[in-house]
Amino acid sequence: MNRQDDFLLNIVKIILSILVIFSFIAFIAGELILPEANNKKESKCGIFESEWNYISEDGTKIPTTVPGSVKLEKGKWAAIETVLPSDLQDTSFCFRSLQQEMRIFIDGELRKEYSTVEEQLFGKTSTIAYVFVPVNASDAGKILRLECMTDSHFTGVFDEILQGEKSDIVSKLMMNYAPSTIVAAFMFFLGLGVIIISLLIWVVYKRKIELFPLGVAIMLAATWLISESKIRQFFLPNSTIAMYMGFFMIMLLPLPFLSYINTVQKNRYQKAHTTVLALSVVNFILCTALQVLGIKDFFETMTISHIILGATIFLMFITMIMDIYKGKIKEYRTVAMGFGGIVVAGVIEIALSYSETTKLNGIALCISLVCLLIGAAMKSGKDIFSIEREKQMALSATEAKAQFLANMSHEIRTPINTILGMNEMILRENKDEKIEEYANYANNAGHMLLGLINDILDFSKIEAGKLEVIEKEYSLYAMLKDIEIAAEKRIENKGLSFHAEIDNMMPAVLKGDELRIKQILNNLLSNAEKYTEKGSVRFSVKGIQQGETYSLLISVVDTGIGIREEDINHIFDSFERADLNKTRNIHGTGLGLCITKQLIEKMKGSITVSSEYGKGSCFIVEIPQEVVSMVETKELKKQELELKRYSNTNHLIAPDARILVVDDNAINLTVTKALLERTKIKTDLAQGGMKCLEMTRKNKYDLILMDHMMPEIDGIETMNILRAEKDNVNCNVDIIVLTANAIHGAKEEYLAKGFSDYLSKPLHPEELEATIAKYIKK
Ligand code: ADP
Repeated sequence: MNRQDDFLLNIVKIILSILVIFSFIAFIAGELILPEANNKKESKCGIFESEWNYISEDGTKIPTTVPGSVKLEKGKWAAIETVLPSDLQDTSFCFRSLQQEMRIFIDGELRKEYSTVEEQLFGKTSTIAYVFVPVNASDAGKILRLECMTDSHFTGVFDEILQGEKSDIVSKLMMNYAPSTIVAAFMFFLGLGVIIISLLIWVVYKRKIELFPLGVAIMLAATWLISESKIRQFFLPNSTIAMYMGFFMIMLLPLPFLSYINTVQKNRYQKAHTTVLALSVVNFILCTALQVLGIKDFFETMTISHIILGATIFLMFITMIMDIYKGKIKEYRTVAMGFGGIVVAGVIEIALSYSETTKLNGIALCISLVCLLIGAAMKSGKDIFSIEREKQMALSATEAKAQFLANMSHEIRTPINTILGMNEMILRENKDEKIEEYANYANNAGHMLLGLINDILDFSKIEAGKLEVIEKEYSLYAMLKDIEIAAEKRIENKGLSFHAEIDNMMPAVLKGDELRIKQILNNLLSNAEKYTEKGSVRFSVKGIQQGETYSLLISVVDTGIGIREEDINHIFDSFERADLNKTRNIHGTGLGLCITKQLIEKMKGSITVSSEYGKGSCFIVEIPQEVVSMVETKELKKQELELKRYSNTNHLIAPDARILVVDDNAINLTVTKALLERTKIKTDLAQGGMKCLEMTRKNKYDLILMDHMMPEIDGIETMNILRAEKDNVNCNVDIIVLTANAIHGAKEEYLAKGFSDYLSKPLHPEELEATIAKYIKK
């Protein structure tokens, strides 16, 4: 489409938009200004005008006007009389009772009696309503007598009397008062909608919506307007209850308004808000009690409720002025504008209420409430948007941190690989006892450093919400035996006694994250060892079978320093170390139990601790696992055996094998070569992927050990190129990835990429040999 077409389209769009706006303006203006269409039928409804006399107690007649009033004591009957016109037709009179009981007589005959006092739940005065009295032509010239009585300030007041067909009177009243009632009904549903949406968001997204109290406020205000409607008796069966509702709503209105404003003002003026709210509560209870006990009707106590409502508006107004002064108003500018609108609407409403002819009570208030709602919705929308943005920023900061920690751990692993590898060579080749002792210290420190890096890596994953468990089948007894052997060695070396009780009736093969369970148990056992100076450590494992699930119940009990009661709730928090006076000399970061707990929760298990300070601690872990088999499979047993065969004492020797080690780091190559020296395997070294490809084209290898992260082409690319070179003799050779990427789950990823196996750096000599053995044997 060219530019001219675009221009034409835009012009057409603008013209159409203007036409749409004009149509609506014409519609609204036409309805308001033009005369009623098809108004042939004259309404036979009007105001009944006549000359009235007030009949005083002694029977004297004093001329009076209707509408009008006479001076009288509360609770006394007031009577007025008039002569019905001589040309009277069949018609109805409609009197408005102003909280009064009414009696209407024609020539002394009681034609209508109105009172709700008997039937209403409580209260001394009758509900305001229109009272209809039919009369006919034969009543012409007779005396119409109206008697009214009330205990309220309406004593002696007579409202306007309407005359006409009952249906005509009703439709006239409807025409006059229905618009504001319809607007109020619309407001009611709008408020209800806001409440429902807020509740849904709260239930589904667990997010509190600020607009909730405003929805309540709008619903209360609308209910108030509906229950105050002059035509309520035509659509609400019980006007008395509707009237009470009106009063309740006025007394309750401060609550949602103040709660809302308190939230947007971030509790800055909470005390003042609470005071007014407390007053509202007292007022509600008192007024209701007085009404129920028949002491004072709501009408009489309403002034106090109005004062409290006034105080609420005043308080909101003052706090907003203070916020303008403090420069905080910008936090809720649109809301403040909405409240400004309400104040203006309030003034309009008061002015209208003094005008006799008003039929639109409440409409200005409704419009201002809708404006407030729009202002508030704009604020909430803006807030949600900025919260979302901040969350996003925080997330990317956490991600950057996690990435940094992952990189750091990778970078630190490479030199540790060298340190531990070279140290291993010293341990192997050295004959001097003293040097062996030093090398052992270096070895321990290296492994400790490694543990630390692993913890930090796990912790960064917890923070980034990326801690994961990888479920696989595993042999329960082999895992527990591994843990038991390692713990026994460590704990007995420290001079403590170690007791392991492993139930031998447990399922043999479970499905779960074996490595993570090992990590949990090793952590608890190493804590027990660290924080116990003398006595024993007891390790017991049993379980309960529930259908397909087997709940492992593991306890680690020590006789160590124990944990103080005040510390016990904090030991699972990150970086929390309890009782520093005693534990300062024991190395630790305060991350172990935090990670342990997170892992257990991730596996839907639980951990509990009980401890007696100075006597010892007991950690109990429950982890549900899926049962795979009650007996071990041959495959699992074979794997166990293979791993055990190449233990320290019985290492691999394979002089006929030839392998290629690929790494961009020359020292790493040296370390791997040195570690493999005792296996007598012929070990070629390739510094980088290109070199690897070059060498594989020349020599036949039984196995390749390949680093992942290398410049130029990395380990994965090198493998892919090699696999694609169909004329390369090594194109199908097994490739084991060697990487400092020790992230949990990395192994599965590498296997999925096509590597035969995975070894993480720093290389563990036994593991290295056992893994190589699995492949060169083939
Ligand atoms: P740390 O690296 O400090 O050991 P942990 O998160 O593993 O971190 O433990 C947190 C704290 O809980 C420790 O610093 C120690 O005060 C306390 N604690 C943990 N296990 C024991 C135990 N078996 N006996 C006494 N105190 C313990």
